[in-house]
Amino acid sequence: MENPNTSDRKFWETLRRKRFHFVVILALVTTVLSMTIGSNLFQGDLLNYQIVQMNSPSARRVSRLEKRQRKHGISTGPSVSFLGDLLGLMEEGGEFIPVLQKTVFPVDRIPNWGAMRTSDQWDRTYAQMTDADFVPVPRYDLSQLTIPMSSLTHPLLDTNIPIITAKLFYSTRYFAAYSVDANEYTGMHSGLDLKLPIGTPIHAIGNGLVAYAQNEGALGLHVIIEHKLASGEDVFSVYGHFSSVAVKVGDQVAVGQVIGTVGMTGNTTAPHLHLQVDRETETDPHMPWTPLYAPTKEQVAKWSINPITFIQDHAEKTSP
Ligand SMILES: [Zn+2]
Repeated sequence: MENPNTSDRKFWETLRRKRFHFVVILALVTTVLSMTIGSNLFQGDLLNYQIVQMNSPSARRVSRLEKRQRKHGISTGPSVSFLGDLLGLMEEGGEFIPVLQKTVFPVDRIPNWGAMRTSDQWDRTYAQMTDADFVPVPRYDLSQLTIPMSSLTHPLLDTNIPIITAKLFYSTRYFAAYSVDANEYTGMHSGLDLKLPIGTPIHAIGNGLVAYAQNEGALGLHVIIEHKLASGEDVFSVYGHFSSVAVKVGDQVAVGQVIGTVGMTGNTTAPHLHLQVDRETETDPHMPWTPLYAPTKEQVAKWSINPITFIQDHAEKTSP
């Protein structure tokens, strides 16, 4: 027979021990839980931080957006303006866009396509052609470019060959339908397609800053150069479907500098240069303007410039 006091003591001792165990286990569980939750919170914070980092516009972006908002008459608060001005100074120091002084054509000569008769001749690379295969860059003369091809080839007179070459070279006119006989503003092609052999070196049409150089979307491997006009307006020249690129984002390029070579990247059925000149939009980096339907002349004028007209208007001397 046990002493009830003894049994009571044992009971309490057991309970205390168990409670001790319970407390130890609780402490352990709490520690483990708090560590897990803590690390999760930390990761969460880190994640939030990263998201904030990703979403926070770069110095360049803030100043550009601010500048464009100002340009489009959208008022921003004084603090944003102050920040914009502050970052604008950084932009001036960090990414200087050279003023466009003069322009050149992206190529200095082209194959005499109209004189070539077989696909073997046509399909040669730039390196496989000889000096005898090339002619000077033809004029962008719509009165000749819109002559139906059938009337130039039947009969095929020697005097028609330069016109055929020009028609094939300017294979898609400014905002034209994809037809060799199409006139401007008959389609939605936002630039000109210039038929050139693979590997043809392409020159920057003017001084500027490389804003984009990547393989993405319908234009494939393409380069975008930002130019600062004397008027203060920024315009962008776009060069599509390259096989190789000789510049990188942030590079300052001089007029005539080789920026890449003709290829067939992106959506294309034959080697050519897609050349486009865009006006400034609110997107940064600049996205080439690609309308989803045939735009009116007024809509085109808002976002785009005929690259040939642009080159001619800013050329020092005579250009094609
Ligand atoms: Zn094109």
